[in-house]
Amino acid sequence: MQGRDAGPRGTGRALVLNATFEALGLVSTRRALLLVLATKAELVHATERVFHAERAAFPEPSVVRLARYVRVPHDRTVAVNRRTVFARDSHRCQYCGSAAESIDHVVPRSRGGLHAWDNVVAACRRCNTRKEDRLPHEVGLVLRTPPAAPRQRIWLLAMSGGARDEWAPYLGEQSLTA
Ligand SMILES: [Zn+2]
Repeated sequence: MQGRDAGPRGTGRALVLNATFEALGLVSTRRALLLVLATKAELVHATERVFHAERAAFPEPSVVRLARYVRVPHDRTVAVNRRTVFARDSHRCQYCGSAAESIDHVVPRSRGGLHAWDNVVAACRRCNTRKEDRLPHEVGLVLRTPPAAPRQRIWLLAMSGGARDEWAPYLGEQSLTA
């Protein structure tokens, strides 16, 4: 099967719902289509694009729902990186509120700070330069919100890569505010 009209393999992503309509995660649209063709999932929403196979064409999935309920642990952790931190912090500097350009370790790594959700924030260049290897209070900076691990993993994943409009009903009320 070739995904010519659907773009290079793996570029598009589809939201996977549990049988109960709870959002579970994202997979490539190709993988989502294979789930549908194997009757492991049903197509809930399709994009306007098409996958071409030898004798048939299939709509590119945007949302699929698993045929059978799967149990998932809720404490899976999200990687801390520029994309995910920017998504959590709505692309705003957590010190001054202007557009974020980098990530900042609140307690600098040179002073033992960890690369962890509760020690990393989005920051603008000005605040980052002002702070350097010091603690916020040492240079008169105040965090607007104490950083914490995101609660809604799926929301963060979707936001960090751009969510589709039709995912909104499944991602919770915060989904379109970032
Ligand atoms: Zn700033």
